[in-house]
Amino acid sequence: MMDTLSPSLILVVDDRPENACLLFNCLTQHGFEVLVAQDGASALHIAEMEHPHLVLLDVLMPGISGFETCQQLKANAILSDIPIIFTTALNGTVDKVKGFELGAVDYITKPFEPEELLARVRTHLTLYHLQQQLRAKELALQEANQKLHWLASLDELTQVANRRVFNERLQQEWQRLRREQLPLSLLMCDIDHFKRYNDNYGHLAGDNCLQQVAKAMGRAVKRPADLVARYGGEEFVVILPNTIAQGAVHVAHNIQHELENNSINSMGYLPNVQPITLSIGVSSMVPNGQYPPESLIQFADTALYEAKARGRNQVVLYAVASLEN
Ligand code: GH3
Ligand code: MG
Ligand code: MG
Repeated sequence: MMDTLSPSLILVVDDRPENACLLFNCLTQHGFEVLVAQDGASALHIAEMEHPHLVLLDVLMPGISGFETCQQLKANAILSDIPIIFTTALNGTVDKVKGFELGAVDYITKPFEPEELLARVRTHLTLYHLQQQLRAKELALQEANQKLHWLASLDELTQVANRRVFNERLQQEWQRLRREQLPLSLLMCDIDHFKRYNDNYGHLAGDNCLQQVAKAMGRAVKRPADLVARYGGEEFVVILPNTIAQGAVHVAHNIQHELENNSINSMGYLPNVQPITLSIGVSSMVPNGQYPPESLIQFADTALYEAKARGRNQVVLYAVASLEN
């Protein structure tokens, strides 16, 4: 009958052919795949090449001893998981303890008792396989968690950061730049007459337009620390850390130019249709204790309102002399 743990691969290391032969026969008879090495050096080589699931390791061998071989296997990050069982004629407690100290999981004394040998081999192979399964599941879970975290931070439609990430980042940057006494700027962008666009082309085309606007914004906003996020509906925000007001205004104009050149405006859906444009309110300040972080949103919003009032497709900087930098 084949062993349920087959085809586990076992490396037998013993300098005496009669011992190696005995182990080989006993294990292969029970369905295990067995490799044999006659010294420590070839054991290390075979282990690297074949990555066995278990090593039966003789202690006393010419050249590299069993203990040394064990040490080297345990020092190799790729091989260190493989369980090692020492096979030893030594009965002294010190040697057994040393084997465990070097990372072996068990020992078997010679001459072998086949039933005992198989019982120990099976136990450690089972543990090894369970451990490997657990590790694989842990890895899969980690990956799934990372993906989930990533997905939970994106706006589903436009694939830019969502409102939650924007809120977190605004708080973080506000605190950081308050400590460093450097400017923080914010753009509040709103698509002009978007309701009309939806009414003309339908909501699917509207959704596509939102995606195009998000992409155009991503292209115009260049620094790694900058963040484009969907604030809600047809409103987007951009956090620009360490950026003075004029720099932020410059980025806002860049966004508008990106949009002008976007396919959504160059394809020309229908005659007499206005191009997609953005009104952008800009606020900027060196964070201080006088205002809460949300004041940046409030000021950018006020500037956005002014941009709409001035006829849309405009960039307006929130102008309070004391706040400018
Ligand atoms: P204004 O220039 O004053 O900003 O005019 P507007 O039409 O853009 O502003 P209004 O607030 O009146 O309308 C916003 C529109 O945005 C209405 C709504 O249908 C549309 N909208 C918001 N979210 C989405 C979305 O996820 N998909 C689509 N297709 N449309 C959206
Ligand atoms: Mg709006
Ligand atoms: Mg709008």
